[in-house]
Order: sequence, then C-alpha cells, then structure tokens
Amino acid sequence: MKVPVWNPAVEFLEREALERLQLANLRKTVAWALKTPFYRRRLAEVGLHRPEDIASLRDLRDIPYTTKEDLRESYPRGLLAVDLEQVVRLHTSSGTTGMPTVIHHTQADLDAWTELVARCIVATGASRRDVFQNMTNYGLFTGGLGLHYGAERVGMLVIPASSGNTSRQVQLMRHFQTSVVHATPSYLLHLHSALMDEDTDTSPPSLRKAFIGAEPHSEETRRKIETLFEIEAYNSYGLSEMNGPGVAFECLYKTGLHLWEDAYLLEVIDPDSLRPCAEEETGEIVLTTLQRQATPLLRYRTRDLSHLVGGHCPCGRSHRRLARIKGRSDDMLIVNGVNVFPSQIEEALMKAPEVGTNYLIQVEKRGALDRLAVKTEVHAALFAGDARVLSDLRERIAERIRAAVLVKPSIELHEPGSLPVSEGKARRVLDLRPAF
Ligand code: ADP
Ligand code: ZN
Repeated sequence: MKVPVWNPAVEFLEREALERLQLANLRKTVAWALKTPFYRRRLAEVGLHRPEDIASLRDLRDIPYTTKEDLRESYPRGLLAVDLEQVVRLHTSSGTTGMPTVIHHTQADLDAWTELVARCIVATGASRRDVFQNMTNYGLFTGGLGLHYGAERVGMLVIPASSGNTSRQVQLMRHFQTSVVHATPSYLLHLHSALMDEDTDTSPPSLRKAFIGAEPHSEETRRKIETLFEIEAYNSYGLSEMNGPGVAFECLYKTGLHLWEDAYLLEVIDPDSLRPCAEEETGEIVLTTLQRQATPLLRYRTRDLSHLVGGHCPCGRSHRRLARIKGRSDDMLIVNGVNVFPSQIEEALMKAPEVGTNYLIQVEKRGALDRLAVKTEVHAALFAGDARVLSDLRERIAERIRAAVLVKPSIELHEPGSLPVSEGKARRVLDLRPAF
C-alpha cells in the first residue's frame, strides 16, 4: 500500500536528525519563554538564564513543570511572549475541569498549526478530492477553526457546519456528498440515531471517514461508529494548550497516535513520583511546545493519561505513537475506595451488542457508601418483549462492569434518545456526592 503523506521530509526524518531539530527548537522556545516574566522567574530558580544553557535534550529535565494552575494564574496575558501587535488570534480551552486557559497565536503560530493538521488529515488517506464537513464548534473551541484551516490547506472542499442542528448536518451531508467528517464520538453516535429516526434507513453513502476526538472514548466505541456508518474512524488528540487538534493522530494503520515530535517534545511521567515512565507504562503526558512564539509552554502537564507504543508503525513515520488516551488523571472516580476510570466502564458497556449510543455514569452517596449507577440506552425492540430479557441484560452488563472495575453498578436501561445529548464534549459522569 502506498502511504499517503503530506510532508515526507519531516514525517520520515530519521530519529537522530529529528532530535537535532528538537534541540534547536527547544533553544528557540526557551528564548521565547524568557521573554515572559513568569518563565524568567521560573527558569532563574533553576539557574537557566539563556537558551545556550540548554546543552542537550536531557537538560529539559532541569526545567520545572508548567501546570494548568500556572496558566490559570497567568490569565489573561501573563504568558504572552511577543508584543500584542504580533498576536492575531487567541483561543481558550473548553473549561471542562475549571476556568478556561488562554493561548495567544502569531500568524506564524497559526501557519505552523495548520501544517500539523494537514499532516494528520493526509495521514488518514483523506485528500483534496474529499468533501469535509466539520461538525465541531467554531469559536473559541479549537476543534472548529483548527481542522478547518488544515483541511483547506490540504485542498479539501470544506463545509464549516459547526456543531449541533442535526437535521441540517444530515441535509448538508446528503446534498454535498460529504465524504469525511470531524466530530466528537458521542455526537457521531447521536447523529446515527437521528439518521435511523429519519426512516431513510442508511447513512449517506458518500461518507467514508471520520476524525473523532476531543473526548475519551474506547476502542469499542470506535468500532461501533465504524460499523454503524460503514466507515473508517481515526482518533484525533489535541488540547488547546498545545494549539488544539493536530498534536497526535492515527495514520491509516491505526496502531496508535503519531505525535508530531518536531512541534512537541513528549514525556510520559508517573503523576505521583514525577519520574519518567518506561515505554508501554501508562502515565501523564507532558508536552513542550517547540514552534510556538506567542505562548511557549515548557513541560506542560496535560493530566491526560496514556503510554508510548513500542516498535515501528508500518507507515514508516519516525514520530512516536501514543496509545489511545485513557482519560484525565482528574477524571478518575474513587468509589468506596476503588479507583475507577469512566473509560473502563465505557469499554465494558460497549461490548454488549444490545447497548445503544448514549450512556451516563452517576455516583451518589447512600448513607456511608458510594453508589455507582450506569444509565444506558439500549435498542428500542427490547422494551417490547419479555421483562425477563431486560433484567437478564441488566445483570449481564453489571457483571461485565464489575469484572472490569471491581465495583458492581446498578444498571438502568433507557429507550433510545432519552438520555441528555451534548453537541460538544459529552458529559458522561455525574458525581452527586457532596464535596467535603
Ligand atoms: P478542556 O481541557 O477544557 O476540555 P480542550 O478543548 O483543550 O479543553 O480539550 C482538550 C482535552 O480533551 C485533552 O486534554 C483531553 O483530555 C481531551 N481529548 C482531546 N482529544 C482526545 C482524544 N482523542 N481522546 C481522549 N481525550 C481527548
Ligand atoms: Zn503510522
């Protein structure tokens, strides 16, 4: 198979040359960072005053971490490294876990970001012959404009549909023969239910690929999307602090997400001891921007959990791969003392063929104990039959989740379309326990 590629010179760069490029870019980044009072102070504390003080990539380890709190405390402009006149845009995070963080961009920053997104798109086999419908929010959220400019650079016909308005999305797909979409996995599943309600019985035949990201999802959910729409779905990872989409993406082979290492310096650390993780060992992703002028970030702790995939990808790209993101370290629920990741529940749930496209995890306090409940939509036909079928299914799902997370939840089964839907990132967890 011929591997589609946007920028072969960089994407296939040998490791040694790639690391030389990283070192040069790290020095530039430190020079930009030293223009901000925040990093001048931080770096002075460890004796780093000039970019030349970085002799090798190993010296990165002397640099202190930057956290989400640092970004929040520097709000709105404490991390700006260029004159305001050079800034052409700002974006913020979605604020899923608190006050949003803000990132400023120069024109060069936007161009570099666009280049990374173009690489991702082409790596999946999409091309200028495709019609691309971008179903994520256009605005401060980076998924809209980020993918938009990348797709235009590739030369695709871009439909800037933005999020929501499902019937119009369907109409656009049918009228303009959309072949590639970008959406959150939860929204695509919702879109599929809407298509089924339409009674036209099929998804648009022109559709062949989806880019799915912005929220944690399991391999089972990807497969479900692929089967329901009869398409290929590629995982897209990014965060506004690192521009947005375009940080790491799956190629045609789907063996993990290639992270563009000329643009981001990757570390995976144990979030408690802060020591580096071994390959294949799960830890927190830490990223350093290597190309961004306006808001350089050094050793940013993303709180996202993943691990490095060993070996080589058949596509031949030298940029290393991250495994599917397991969730955020702060997503973890502690239920009666047991650590539970929502992604583990999703994986177990989606293995049941009767399960539909939407679910919700709820934790409550009952007396001294925590009570875990999982509400899930199941196929409508099940409600017409014998009640015993439903109670057997509840028991089977509860057992499957217990085997995965060691806590047995109560299961509520709902008709399709009855659980709340979000147009952006899905809210899968409702923690109703009182805060201390
Ligand atoms: P917020 O952090 O407020 O949600 P962002 O819009 O910047 O704001 O979202 C980035 C976050 O979304 C990432 O840090 C990660 O937790 C999550 N995310 C993005 N892409 C993926 C993906 N493919 N898989 C799992 N989680 C993802
Ligand atoms: Zn690959």
